[in-house]
Amino acid sequence: MTKLFDAGLSRRLFLCGTGGLLGGALSPTAAFAQGGGNGGGGVLPPDRPTGRPHPKMEKEMPEAPGKRLGYAVVGLGQFALNQIIPSFAESKSSKLVAVVSGNPDKARDVATRHGVPETNIYGYDTFDRIAENDEIDVVYIILPNSLHAEYTVRAFKAGKHVLCEKPMAVTPDECETMIRAGREANRKLMIAYRAQYEPYNLEAMRMAREGELGAIRLVTSDHGRVLDPKVPADQWRMVKALAGGGSLYDIGIYSLQAARYITGEEPVEVYGRIFSDPSDPRFKEVEDTVAFQLRFPSGTLANLSSSYSTAPVKRIQVFGSKASLTLDPATEYYKHQMIVKTEMEERRVQIPEANQFAAEMDHFSKAIMENREPKTPGEEGLRDVRILQAVYRSAREGQPISLETTGSTGK
Ligand code: NDP
Repeated sequence: MTKLFDAGLSRRLFLCGTGGLLGGALSPTAAFAQGGGNGGGGVLPPDRPTGRPHPKMEKEMPEAPGKRLGYAVVGLGQFALNQIIPSFAESKSSKLVAVVSGNPDKARDVATRHGVPETNIYGYDTFDRIAENDEIDVVYIILPNSLHAEYTVRAFKAGKHVLCEKPMAVTPDECETMIRAGREANRKLMIAYRAQYEPYNLEAMRMAREGELGAIRLVTSDHGRVLDPKVPADQWRMVKALAGGGSLYDIGIYSLQAARYITGEEPVEVYGRIFSDPSDPRFKEVEDTVAFQLRFPSGTLANLSSSYSTAPVKRIQVFGSKASLTLDPATEYYKHQMIVKTEMEERRVQIPEANQFAAEMDHFSKAIMENREPKTPGEEGLRDVRILQAVYRSAREGQPISLETTGSTGK
């Protein structure tokens, strides 16, 4: 990675406090909104069984260099249409070959514009017929959160690999069902944690993990925006049965991810508080603002937050014994900014931007073609959902929750 240092940049850094909020917790429901899968639990074995390769994989392995896997995008909403589908143009190992939508006119329009044949347009009722379509290797699920588990299980039953949007699902049971379904189908599951494929976040991870900031004492991360009931994509986010939770599930998960991937550690304790204005109709079912703290085995602390009623913020800060690092914005789609500050200097770190969505899809395609585990498998999504659930529980009970006793880290 090329780095340019812009020494002496005078830019004020804002530290964010996250304490002192009031209120009770909401506990997310486990419900597939449209039939399908069920809960189910059981402790996961530490390693994925090797299993017998799917006949199609046997036929195709080893993959020819330059091959692109075919993706079916499920759910043609805001994120799919504006970020993911355009990003296939920049991907090297992934191509759009099919779309799945409940709106046939929209699906036809998207298909026409992106060279997807009419035969590769599916509805939710015809989704299972993707099993007969050899052009589809991967199903990319970009549906409301409570539908992730059902469509993941159905995609595995159809013999496809699955890339699933965050949060992985609503409950740990659903996550375990998804992981198990992938194992049984001998298919791969990856959670679309795009920040783990984004150059600035990767550089922040590297600097923190290689000691360039000294010993990491504290990570803070804040993700907030104003939830707008006029926007269709925000309407299901106010419905617990579809969203699973509020700001914590939707964007607090970025704050949580940041603390985990910057430190490289799994938290041993969590303490959460929630505030929702009871008179605000947006927060009848899901929570608004969440402040939560994590404690890691090394002693490093994280102060994290999410909100559906603040001006936009997508920030990560890392405080080390030698230097502090601010990524702001940290989890934007483009135009990230990083500042590293020591006692002697303040410098801007500049890295060439790259399409994180294309990088993420290509990572998964390569993992499939080379038959290796992706960097952010289902187990990574399960860990987060367990921790998020512990945040709700902590807020409900008004006390810290030990994650060691619940095995929440999955490690
Ligand atoms: P949208 O509402 O814009 O898109 C969701 C799509 O799902 C709808 O357009 C619709 O597509 C389909 N759908 C099927 N059933 C329902 C239902 N009951 N209610 C509403 N929509 C339904 O949401 P987003 O695109 O913002 O979010 C979708 C997923 O992507 C979420 O899991 C979210 O967390 C994730 N996301 C991830 C981001 C990231 O940066 N990684 C950013 C934004 C979202 P159709 O009309 O085609 O059937």
